[in-house]
Amino acid sequence: MSDKEIFEDTDLQKDQQDVEAQAEHEEDGYEDICYICRRPESKAGKMIRIPNNICICADCMQKTFDTMNHSGFSMGDIGNFGNMPNISMINLSDLQNMNMMPKAQKLKKKKAKEDKEKKQPVLDIKSIPAPHKIKASLDEYVVGQEHAKKVMSVAVYNHYKRVTCDDLDGIDIEKSNMLMLGPTGSGKTYMVRTLARLLDVPLAIADATSLTEAGYIGDDIESVVSKLLAAADNDVERAEHGIIFIDEIDKIAKKKTTNQRDVSGESVQQGMLKLLEGAEIEVPVGANSKNAMVPLATVNTKDILFICGGAFPDLEDIIKERLNKQSAMGFHADLKDKYDGEENLLQRVEVEDIRKYGMIPEFLGRLPVIFALDALTEDMLVRILTEPRSAIVKQYQKLLSIDEVKLDFEENALRAIARKAKKKDVGARALRAIIEEFMLDIMYEIPKDDNIGKVTITEDYIENKGGPVISMRGCLALEEKAAGI
Ligand code: ADP
Repeated sequence: MSDKEIFEDTDLQKDQQDVEAQAEHEEDGYEDICYICRRPESKAGKMIRIPNNICICADCMQKTFDTMNHSGFSMGDIGNFGNMPNISMINLSDLQNMNMMPKAQKLKKKKAKEDKEKKQPVLDIKSIPAPHKIKASLDEYVVGQEHAKKVMSVAVYNHYKRVTCDDLDGIDIEKSNMLMLGPTGSGKTYMVRTLARLLDVPLAIADATSLTEAGYIGDDIESVVSKLLAAADNDVERAEHGIIFIDEIDKIAKKKTTNQRDVSGESVQQGMLKLLEGAEIEVPVGANSKNAMVPLATVNTKDILFICGGAFPDLEDIIKERLNKQSAMGFHADLKDKYDGEENLLQRVEVEDIRKYGMIPEFLGRLPVIFALDALTEDMLVRILTEPRSAIVKQYQKLLSIDEVKLDFEENALRAIARKAKKKDVGARALRAIIEEFMLDIMYEIPKDDNIGKVTITEDYIENKGGPVISMRGCLALEEKAAGI
């Protein structure tokens, strides 16, 4: 083969590779990003592709040419790169790495118009279940909290109705962002997570404690939208219909005694106002902070449902104070300690109390749906152990059934677990830790002996006064026969 033929052959191979790369790019549904200005195709327009899968937008290409022209560049100057700042910036080895850009940093392409018309919208009003259906689905997972489930179902229903209806008649439906109060472990995160899964919308869970005003150490407020975009697989459209849950919202209450700028309290509340109401936010794709190397996407938060949650410790004192004040007037004045023993004082919360706690009125105005979760009682804890779809007890029963061993919990044993959990004061979160401690020995010993057919957990075992009741397979079969099973 002559030299010329070899060159032509490699050229042909290169062309082939480029065509394949182009086809692959079109198939994968991700946007191209300009190597120089980092803007995606949807913003910067069609890209010019150069070998090695590098894309440059027309603007940047033009600017590069202009710079070369102004610096009096000619082919004779080729060795004199020092005159051209833009050129010397480009490092060829970086260009090679461009191929390796992770998908996490790419933007998903918006669907073509015809595609959209053919497909059903993400949340069609007809497919949004009515509030009672949303609540019925929640019932399968969440024990108790009847009021909270009802309020949430209606708020979510209204929210997505608002998203799908047009505003041609000039009537704007307000957003139904929510503020959820409840002691730790009472199921705030769990309820939101269940809701998002049932509705099949992306969910971002953020912690208000890490948020600070832009420019200070900590996470930018807008980083919560970036998280949602990541949860939606970088699909801006899907993210715009998602849910953002901001936990520990009480931690951004206004500091009471401070003469410094309150960068993690009041300023964060101020910064969140436009986010809660609806604004176009430029968020970095695939990263937490904006920098030159990260592409940006514009997300409109108008249709994002914000749910804030917090334990609001000491809020009960404020509520109590208000209630006492109300009832301390007139002839029928109540005793001062009338409300001291009340468990669900949080249910009587009013906006005024939360404002007193340190949340600014503008912030509360953007969270119109306020409700409190019930503190978990011993009965509720017992039900949490057994009733939800993937209740802890059911999980262990399934695990042991794989070894063909039956697992039973005596009613009193469940009560003993609930009692122990209640003492820990961390809500339902303690249940798993307690059960895991007792099940460790069982999960370790049972697989050793093939003859074991059933294990019954007793109250004595939980109270460390005895062991579980173990039944052998043979005896079990006889017992079942006698019982006529
Ligand atoms: P919070 O966010 O209020 O601190 P979580 O939502 O994290 O509490 O709750 C901890 C765990 O407790 C959840 O994972 C869930 O399994 C369980 N849990 C809490 N409340 C309930 C409930 N009402 N029904 C079922 N499980 C619950």
